[in-house]
Amino acid sequence: MSVHAGIGMTSQRTRERMIGRLREQGITDEVVLAAMLAVPRHIFVEEALASRAYEDVSLPIGLNQTISQPYIVARMTELLRDNKPLGRVLEIGTGCGYQTSVLSRVANEVFSIERIAPLLTKAKSHFRELRLRNVKVKHGDGHQGLPEVAPFDGIIVTAGATHIPEELLRQLAVGGRLVIPVGSGGAQMLTLVERLPESYRKTELEAVKFVPLLSGAV
Ligand code: SAH
Repeated sequence: MSVHAGIGMTSQRTRERMIGRLREQGITDEVVLAAMLAVPRHIFVEEALASRAYEDVSLPIGLNQTISQPYIVARMTELLRDNKPLGRVLEIGTGCGYQTSVLSRVANEVFSIERIAPLLTKAKSHFRELRLRNVKVKHGDGHQGLPEVAPFDGIIVTAGATHIPEELLRQLAVGGRLVIPVGSGGAQMLTLVERLPESYRKTELEAVKFVPLLSGAV
């Protein structure tokens, strides 16, 4: 990385301003805010966009995919945590790996599945650069989850699903939480599913906009 790239625009101060904005937007989980203060979001976007990395927008990461806006990353992580320590977490849609890196600071173990191989290669290089040791990735279609590793205390889907995949519900631990954008067309409802001892409880939270959850791996 060039020494001059975005000095001032990518600094700790810029991240602190982002955290201030997240508080104004209603994020209250201090563990999530601390994680987002620590993760250098600008390394996950192309150098030409690095100066915009801390704005509250989603940005392109290539191959028609986007890095989610900071508010959404914070909100989904807060919902997943529910103010409690997380053990094992599954993420569907690694993308550039930013959300994964935030998760790695709030959970013991993070598993992440991405269907586009070149994105995963880049994400892995970021995980190495940040020395994240509790993240494991898999190239594949996340609809199937990771039955060999389940159950998970939290599952987060970072692409818009037309329906809640049955297989992901099965891989939730009792007391576990699934956070997933659900809907057809361009917009979805951010949805929380909690696994109770005998049933599932579904809560729809707010309108969101994600790239679609697609089938198959490429
Ligand atoms: N969490 C990411 C968001 C990336 S956008 C970040 O912080 O950058 C959503 C990602 O989901 C894309 O990379 C897309 O390729 C991936 N995706 C879509 N459908 C998928 C599927 N069925 N399985 C795994 N990944 C999928």
